[in-house]
Amino acid sequence: MERVFNDRRYLIPFRSTLLPQIFTDVLVVGGGVAGLRAAIAAASVGAEVIVLSKTDLSQTNTAWAQGGIAAVMGEADSIDAHAEDTLTAGAGLCDEPMVRQVVQDGPARLRECLDWGMELDRQSDGSLDAGQEGGHSFRRVFHAGGDATGTELQRCLVAKSDSLPGIRLFEQCFLLDFITASDEPCSRVLGAITYHPRFGLQMIWARSTVLASGGAGVVYRETTNPHAATGDGLAAAYRAGVEVADMAFMQFHPTVLYLPGAARSLISEAVRGDGAHLLDAGGHRFMTEVHALAELAPRDIVSQAIVRQIASQGGQHVLLDCRHMKAFAARFPGISALLKTFDLDPARDLIPVHPAAHYTIGGVRVDAQGHTNLAGLFAVGEVACSGVHGGNRLASNSLLEGLVLGEITGTEAARNGDALGTPTKIVSDIPKSDHGELDLSDVRSSLRSAMWRNVGIERTGSKLRDAVEMFDFWGRYTLDKIFDEPAGWETQNMLLVGALIARSALWREESRGCHSRVDFPEASQAYRVHDGWARGVGGPTVTPVVGRVEVVE
Ligand SMILES: Cc1cc2nc3c(=O)[nH]c(=O)nc-3n(C[C@H](O)[C@H](O)[C@H](O)COP(=O)(O)OP(=O)(O)OC[C@H]3O[C@@H](n4cnc5c(N)ncnc54)[C@H](O)[C@@H]3O)c2cc1C
Repeated sequence: MERVFNDRRYLIPFRSTLLPQIFTDVLVVGGGVAGLRAAIAAASVGAEVIVLSKTDLSQTNTAWAQGGIAAVMGEADSIDAHAEDTLTAGAGLCDEPMVRQVVQDGPARLRECLDWGMELDRQSDGSLDAGQEGGHSFRRVFHAGGDATGTELQRCLVAKSDSLPGIRLFEQCFLLDFITASDEPCSRVLGAITYHPRFGLQMIWARSTVLASGGAGVVYRETTNPHAATGDGLAAAYRAGVEVADMAFMQFHPTVLYLPGAARSLISEAVRGDGAHLLDAGGHRFMTEVHALAELAPRDIVSQAIVRQIASQGGQHVLLDCRHMKAFAARFPGISALLKTFDLDPARDLIPVHPAAHYTIGGVRVDAQGHTNLAGLFAVGEVACSGVHGGNRLASNSLLEGLVLGEITGTEAARNGDALGTPTKIVSDIPKSDHGELDLSDVRSSLRSAMWRNVGIERTGSKLRDAVEMFDFWGRYTLDKIFDEPAGWETQNMLLVGALIARSALWREESRGCHSRVDFPEASQAYRVHDGWARGVGGPTVTPVVGRVEVVE
């Protein structure tokens, strides 16, 4: 990485001894499925836990999830089949033991949520209603409120957390950086420095810290993610010396509502699972010619096919045809209500759709218990790279991963914290920038546009190189600044995350899963490795994939 991305250890100057001090056993950064499940697990083994969320809890990716949670809940389905589907979607880059762990423990974690009061949709005989999504060989996607699965899961986990006296939730509290005993690489993480609009800067000292801050879809101009998904946790981890891996892999969701002025709202994969077709500008159903599973092919294949269709015919979008589907409004009440606000009726109208950045597969490298390479710091959920999703995530596997690995990581963090000693004095000195004023919103929107144009669904070496050079240049006069509120810190974090994605994508001279290089259209055995990036370490370090050998689609 360019020096500018490695120079800065902390975003702001501070003296730890002059700030308010808070102490806890486990600090969890993130209040989505992964963070809350980790917090519940840690509190259940007796730890005092603080959970931070920079937004209120309706603005997590978890709360926005629509389609459902994949799990093997009946005898006709099997753990092997779910694992096989996950490995196939993962395009040879999944770590097989991690896949098996998540798929195996999934049913128990989902039943536990039902015991805690989660309401999943049921059929008239009372049995759970399962949906079908792309890449799944079985109807195993369990949903709530039709297309409001995430909202219900979030509600259930917040209620469970509230019932445990050991958990304190700090909303609107922004993680700036992890604090480490020294600036040396691999120094132990001791907690975090945070900012709250009412309480200002605070030092939170913790025996263990769990990072569960979600994805970074907002680095792209087109994204399904809520505005908070700016990759802060990932950037803070990188600054602290944590290795991040597989950053090239950003999953693009194929079907996002594409109307000028409308938020890029997801039209869930479950809609295609229930029979919707994709039509090109001429009304032709093109996916049947692209893949045997047609509209239910893995997401990368559908997204790439849409982009090619648009490139060959012109225009901005393709069309989703739901006109033949029965009882659309009952099955997808949220999507129906959204469409109605634009005067679209799925029984009558074709819906304009386009792909958008959806799920950050790369992230903080973790082992099976959520350990990062820094003692005292764990990571879980979308911010982590556990090896479960490989080169492409199977639909509805991420809520599942958050539940399963959240439980394991939270327990591990609670059991393996060091004793809290006297707080170390930490001093961050940053010289004043000698560059001029900055139009922050311009940097942010330029970055998001460049990511979409140059580091998007179809990539080439020359465009990626341009992006890397642009971000290095922008970084020189953006990362040397000192900001005093979240918009500035988020922009600095987004620039770092964008630079990591672009570098990893440039390095990976192959096409695999959701990483598509027009100049290297095939998967290459030489790149069937995880690429890891860490502050101050030149070039990627590569680690072999754990599991089977063949390269699959
Ligand atoms: C529209 C949409 C639909 C989806 N549908 C599905 C689906 O049907 N099934 C499925 O399995 N997956 C789905 N996904 C993906 C899934 O929702 C996410 O991968 C998953 O919820 C991530 O959970 P998480 O706990 O890791 O992060 P999140 O739920 O995103 O939570 C992140 C938390 O970290 C906090 N945070 C971030 N930065 C900071 C900071 N600087 N300081 C303090 N706190 C911070 C946030 O405020 C938030 O509380 C969908 C995603 C989207 C966007």
